[in-house]
Amino acid sequence: MSEYSADKIIESIAHVTTQADRELLEASLMSTLFELLKLKSISLYKIISEYDEKCCLITTDITDGKLTFHDPCEPTSQFLIHQITGLSQCIEKEQPVFIEDGRRGGETYAYPLINRSGAIISAFIICGETLSDCENKKLLTGYFQIYRNYACLLDDSEHDTLTGLLNRRTFDRDLERVLAGWKRPSDQNALGNHQQPRRRYCDEKHVNNWLAVIDIDFFKKINDQYGHLYGDEVLLLLANIMRKAFRCYDKLFRFGGEEFVVLLRSTSQKGAAAALERFRATMESYDFPQIGSVTVSIGYVEIADQGIAAVILGHADNALYYAKNHGRNRVCFHADLIEQGELTIDEPKIIESDIELF
Ligand code: GH3
Ligand code: MG
Ligand code: MG
Repeated sequence: MSEYSADKIIESIAHVTTQADRELLEASLMSTLFELLKLKSISLYKIISEYDEKCCLITTDITDGKLTFHDPCEPTSQFLIHQITGLSQCIEKEQPVFIEDGRRGGETYAYPLINRSGAIISAFIICGETLSDCENKKLLTGYFQIYRNYACLLDDSEHDTLTGLLNRRTFDRDLERVLAGWKRPSDQNALGNHQQPRRRYCDEKHVNNWLAVIDIDFFKKINDQYGHLYGDEVLLLLANIMRKAFRCYDKLFRFGGEEFVVLLRSTSQKGAAAALERFRATMESYDFPQIGSVTVSIGYVEIADQGIAAVILGHADNALYYAKNHGRNRVCFHADLIEQGELTIDEPKIIESDIELF
C-alpha cells in the first residue's frame, strides 16, 4: 500500500494545476502519480485514425523514473491499439479497466480520456502493484477527473470556437516552440524531482518544419452573395477538409477571419508541397452546399533553425500574396519565388484589387 497524506495530495494537485500548457500539465500529473503510487510506469497515448484504422501515438511516458516526450513523427511512437495492454478494452467499454499481469505480479490500469463531445481522444496506461486497492483506485480516478476538467478548460482556451482548430494565440506559442526546438526551461518545473526529461522532438536534423498560410479566395463575395451563415459553414467545412488532408501531427490553426495556418512536419519539401497541393485540390473539387466550389490560395516557407517568427510569417504571406496576384487557387513556395526572381526577400504585400470576381 502506498503512503500519501491529504496534505501531500492537495499540494500535488495545486502544483499540477499551475501548468497552463497541455503537455506540461500531463507531464506534471504523470510524475505526481508516479511518485505517489510508486508506479512501474505511466504512459499517455493519443488515439488517432490513420487511413481508417484506429491507431495510437505514445506522447509521454515515465519508465524507470525517466520522463520522455516522444516525437509523434517517429515510427517508434506509433502503435496499433491492440498492441497496448488494456487500451482496446478501455476504448470498447468507454471506462477504466484493470488488468492483472499474473506473470509479473503487477496490474495495468487503463484510463480513457473523453473530450466534451464524448469522443475518446487519449488514454493513460499505468503499471503498478496495488492499483486496484480501493484507496489507490479512488486516488487515480480523482486525479484523472481533475485533469480532464482542467484539460477541457485548456482546450477551450487553445481552440477557435467556430472551427475547433487551434487559435491564433496557440499558434504564436507553437511557432516559438518549433523555433526553440521544443526545449523549454520550464520543463524542469513540471517534473518535480525527476531528472531532465528526454525530449525527442525536432532535434534530429533530417526533420524539417514548414509553415503554410491559407486564405480563402473571394470569401467576401461568398458572404455578400449568400450571407454570413453560409460563410461560416464554409469555414467549418474547410476545417474538416484540413483535418483529413494533413497528418495527425501537423498542427492546424485558424489564424483569424478566413485565414488559416498549418505547421507541417515533413522530411522533405516534396512532402510539404504534396500535402498542401492535396488540400488545395480537395477544396477545389468539394461541392459546398448552395455555393459549389470554393478555392484557396496558399503560401509556404521552410521554418529554418534560428528563424524569427515575424520574418517566417512575413515570407509565407508574401508567397500567399503572390499566389493571390497570379490567378489564386494555387500553392506557392517562397524559396522558389525568390530563386525564380519573382519575389525579392522584402517584397511589400500588395494585392491587386482590379480582379473580376466569379
Ligand atoms: P481574396 O481572394 O483576395 O482573399 O479576397 P477575399 O474576399 O477573400 O478577402 P477580403 O479580405 O476582401 O475579405 C475577407 C472577408 O472575410 C471579409 C469578412 O467579412 C469575412 N470574414 C472574416 N471572418 C469571418 C467569419 O468569421 N465569418 C464569416 N462569415 N465571414 C468572415
Ligand atoms: Mg484574408
Ligand atoms: Mg480571402
